[in-house]
Amino acid sequence: MFSMFKPTWMLEAVYLITPEQLKKIGVKAVLTDLDNTLIAWNDPDGSAELINWIKQMKEAEIPVVVISNNKESRIERVVSRLGLTFISRAMKPFKRGFKKAEKELGLSKEELLMVGDQLLTDIRGANGAGIRTVLVKPIVETDAWNTRINRWLERFVKNYLVKQYPEMKWRQNLL
Ligand SMILES: [Mg+2]
Repeated sequence: MFSMFKPTWMLEAVYLITPEQLKKIGVKAVLTDLDNTLIAWNDPDGSAELINWIKQMKEAEIPVVVISNNKESRIERVVSRLGLTFISRAMKPFKRGFKKAEKELGLSKEELLMVGDQLLTDIRGANGAGIRTVLVKPIVETDAWNTRINRWLERFVKNYLVKQYPEMKWRQNLL
């Protein structure tokens, strides 16, 4: 039960992922959630660590694509300021956005990695599309009512998985 929600890795933050690690696991592009994975709602410009991480990925020619359930108008400004491309209305946890990314990047699912802070959408969606996943800690706790219900479910599923799979621990790198 719940194995479809199990991330491949758990990292403290997205910026711990390096081009060297990605190369070793055969990943050529990173797909990522936006809210609470890359940026906090109250800091749309992103932290210094994030800006530096994006620069690193650019230098290594590893595309970073934001996969968001939000509509284009909401994410475009934020994402373009970070210099990233995006897929809006991705309909996570369904496969739609992931399949679209695969096609647009011209890469196979084995060459992609999905990073997100939510098991129920980010991780479940990528698992369904056969893409390896990294769960990161949410940047801030948010109080939006729909997110709060999600968080409760998240905790329930995560507690179950942690009991079931002892390897589910927060780590500093992918290797
Ligand atoms: Mg999120």
